Amino acid sequence: MNDTIFGKIIRREIPADIVYENADVLAFRDLNPQAPVHVLFVPKRPLATLNDAAPGDAALLGKLLLGAAEYAKREGFAEQGYRTVINCNEDGGQTVFHLHVHLLAGRRLHWPPG
Ligand code: 5GP
Repeated sequence: MNDTIFGKIIRREIPADIVYENADVLAFRDLNPQAPVHVLFVPKRPLATLNDAAPGDAALLGKLLLGAAEYAKREGFAEQGYRTVINCNEDGGQTVFHLHVHLLAGRRLHWPPG
């Protein structure tokens, strides 16, 4: 079983500032925000990393990104811009092994990332 802190948030066992939800995706504010807007989009069905996604997960992966775009439009910063990021494993900087998409916005973001 792949249980993490995000599983506990999904099951409402620990609190989080939840800002978006649909049947497959939950989104909540990052505890340690790296931008004025920093929200994590997580699939309710856990996958540890992007490497664990199979062809059958294509729709779920799409729903994470569509959720992020829908949230950006709803909150009014879609036109100004934002960034979505998936960190994978050690060199990617992944620390929580429940796949998630970071949505960062609200300031000019640097490129390339560190
Ligand atoms: P990763 O490094 O795996 O790509 O991102 C994990 C993110 O989860 C980090 O940005 C970290 O700040 C955030 N995070 C870790 N634990 C918690 C928590 O308990 N609640 C929330 N809301 N965010 C968390």
